[in-house]
Amino acid sequence: MAMADMREPIESGCPDGFQYMHPAMRKNFGMWSYHEDPQPGVLKHVSKTGDTIYTVKVGTQRILDLFTLRKLTSIADEFADGYVRFTIRSNIEYYVTDEAKVQPLIAAIEKEGFIVGGTRNSVAMISHTQGWLHCDIPGTDASGVVKSMMDELIDEFKQWNMPNRVHITTSCCQINCGGQGDIAINIQHTKPPKISHDLVANVCERPTVVARCPVAAIRPAVVNGKPSLEVDEKKCICCGACFPPCPPMQINDPEHSKLAIWVGGNHSNARSKPSFQKLVAAGVPNNPPRWPEATGIVKRILKEYKEGAKDWERINDWIDRIGWPRFFEVTGLPFTKYHIDNWRGARNSLNASTHIRF
Ligand code: SF4
Ligand code: SF4
Repeated sequence: MAMADMREPIESGCPDGFQYMHPAMRKNFGMWSYHEDPQPGVLKHVSKTGDTIYTVKVGTQRILDLFTLRKLTSIADEFADGYVRFTIRSNIEYYVTDEAKVQPLIAAIEKEGFIVGGTRNSVAMISHTQGWLHCDIPGTDASGVVKSMMDELIDEFKQWNMPNRVHITTSCCQINCGGQGDIAINIQHTKPPKISHDLVANVCERPTVVARCPVAAIRPAVVNGKPSLEVDEKKCICCGACFPPCPPMQINDPEHSKLAIWVGGNHSNARSKPSFQKLVAAGVPNNPPRWPEATGIVKRILKEYKEGAKDWERINDWIDRIGWPRFFEVTGLPFTKYHIDNWRGARNSLNASTHIRF
């Protein structure tokens, strides 16, 4: 083919972010000298060239409709410099280079019912996995849990009144996203899957499903003369991993799919070693639309952390200092047999350190 006939390749990856950046950020990329926190929700970055840019961080209701997006972006056009960025926790950030624009921008944001905050030692926006929108395995509505909880933690988002930053995460299935928050609210299946034998042969690739089970609890079987599967319920750890490749192995259940609360996860090794999160409450009712039981436990943990931790201790540092017996004592959470990991296969097959293995 002659060169003239060749078409440009279709670039389907992530577009270059530089084209959308505020010009002051583009100009000063890699040259920031320091930053300050003038007030909750506002950052001031100063560059080595002397340029200054203010960032105003705003909480949203997580899943955004078109009208809300238009409202948020028209605030950017009218009161900021017309540039925004969404953070991984679904905050929207506005940028201005003129300090005089900061307060009118905050007033316009709050007039429309949005909240400014989420910086420094606050409870950051809860991160969640939007399984219902894009994924084939969700067992609960994680975004609903997040909205209900953030409604109750709004003051902790807007103010700097925690000992250190608190990251809360949620997860809508039991096997993938949502780990390693200071507090994590994760789905917990408590019953093995129920199999619709009539559908398995048409829908599931049986070897894939058998291979998927981490404890080898699934076997091929013939049921009512049709190829199907069976589960050894004594071995099954109710993880839900078989449900995505084989939807007839239904594990979601309004009564037996519960929530579990974990604490003390930390990815970063900036000040202390990374740490795994630990289970502190199991079998919490998965109770929409406001999830009061799970929210009550999270608020109880945050209250004790706020009162008992030293300045700049993260939740895992606080628990390391006071010890687990004291943690359960002050939070009033019952310590039950479900807190003890007695699965003997864990030693061989689960990660026992935060190192990545290949
Ligand atoms: S937590 Fe599970 S269901 Fe939810 S988005 Fe992640 S992988 Fe999908
Ligand atoms: S729920 Fe998990 S452990 Fe149980 S059969 Fe399915 S994949 Fe195996």
